[in-house]
Amino acid sequence: MVKICCIGAGYVGGPTMAVIALKCPEIEVVVVDISEPRISGWNSDRLPIYEPGLDDVVKQCRGRNLFFSTEVHRHVGEADIVFVSVNTPTKTCGLGAGKAADLTYWESAARMIADVSRSDKNKIVVEKSTVPVKTAEAIEKILTHNSRGVKYQILSNPEFLAEGTAVKDLFSPDRVLIGGRETPEGREAVSALRNVYAHWVPEDRIIATNLWSAELSKLAANAFLAQRISSVNAVSALCEATGADVTEVAHSVGRDARIGPRFLTASVGFGGSCFQKDILNLVYICECYGLPEVAGYWREVIRINDYQKSRFVNRVVSSMFNTVAAKKIAVLGFAFKKDTGDTRETPAIDVCRGLLRDKAVVSIYDPQVTEEQVHRDLAMKQFDWDHPRHLQPLISPSDLANRVAVVHDAYEAAREAHAVCILTEWDEFRNLDYQRMFDAMHKPAFVFDGRNVVDPAKLREIGFVVYAIGKPLDN
Ligand code: NAD
Repeated sequence: MVKICCIGAGYVGGPTMAVIALKCPEIEVVVVDISEPRISGWNSDRLPIYEPGLDDVVKQCRGRNLFFSTEVHRHVGEADIVFVSVNTPTKTCGLGAGKAADLTYWESAARMIADVSRSDKNKIVVEKSTVPVKTAEAIEKILTHNSRGVKYQILSNPEFLAEGTAVKDLFSPDRVLIGGRETPEGREAVSALRNVYAHWVPEDRIIATNLWSAELSKLAANAFLAQRISSVNAVSALCEATGADVTEVAHSVGRDARIGPRFLTASVGFGGSCFQKDILNLVYICECYGLPEVAGYWREVIRINDYQKSRFVNRVVSSMFNTVAAKKIAVLGFAFKKDTGDTRETPAIDVCRGLLRDKAVVSIYDPQVTEEQVHRDLAMKQFDWDHPRHLQPLISPSDLANRVAVVHDAYEAAREAHAVCILTEWDEFRNLDYQRMFDAMHKPAFVFDGRNVVDPAKLREIGFVVYAIGKPLDN
């Protein structure tokens, strides 16, 4: 029986391996992690991450050919194929701080693989994490210099799933990308991994490339996606200034077959653990290769994103007679997008901090985000990417306790509030009883829709003053 082991039971490692186990019943799949709570979560009825459809997949194969374990060394040692899906955040100190990827977790995983592998089994090591181009070269050096007679093949197999639709994306990927060395052994390793995916992915969707193309494609794909969001957000600012409607503009632009309609939704900004970090990583790589103009081009994508978030906060404050001090603001949605409980780099953090800086009282409701997450995120020291250093938290623990509440539904959040800010596009926010909310709010009652989920005309009929991203403003 082929044995696969995945190091890292996070948002990528967990779902990816669950789907491989489901689709390949003859393969034993073990996901290992150094985090005991994460592994106990995967072994319980309450998985550590929320993803539609994931419970079902895990239930079908956990204990059959899918296992979650903290016995990292044993399972890595026994595996034929080791996926590495550890976190690769942005470095916050030292060389490249604020831009370069921090490969500490990757390097320690690679050294551990070399330590626990024995010569009776050669290994394929698969980069699942998003890493800088040329990382495979570094990994090869670490593995071969520490090898105990084991021969390694390194493959790059970046993951393109999106949180919130991870199971759907894994079941039916646009493509599976496998990069390998152009040697007979490299080609053999690519074909071994191709055989795993071929259990359910059509042949023409499995792309084989050289290692560097695969590594770079992941960074480029995320940069293109984030760039589309920043492009439409840049247009949204112009729409508000001119009376154009960003939904109409995006629809008209997207009808051009060369552009396409998807991923053209204006918002309060992109978030999540990947877009910003991968673009910063790309910027750093460009600088290292002496390409400052290319680096500057991608840097602007993040600048527009930051601008969009601060533009939103400024709009809230200026609309509310230039102060939100002591005013209650209902924040609907804290996750970085709908259908996930993930709050990493969510624009809600910046928006809430901006409101708190102006002394507002915020009452937050998100169907998948806990009070603990909100408090942790808002209290976290902020990192200044432009001048790499940590900034002190903006509010004290007592302020956090007194001015931030996390509540259980949207109506509770809106009770006696002066304004509602919609920051995540959860479907349930489209169908709220806005009349009921209006009746319970101070007047004038404001709605600031950072995701364009409500119909401004209907809300204006109720009596709300409405601001929606990229839409014509109230007169
Ligand atoms: P995550 O933080 O959710 O999970 C990483 C896990 O690795 C953690 O549970 C951590 O405890 C574990 N880990 C770290 N070092 C370890 C070690 N030495 N041994 C065992 N376990 C170890 O991260 P994630 O969101 O799953 O992302 C993983 C990688 O995939 C990143 O490089 C990310 O950029 C990339 N990626 C993420 C997404 C996404 O949507 N989250 C999508 C595509 C690619």
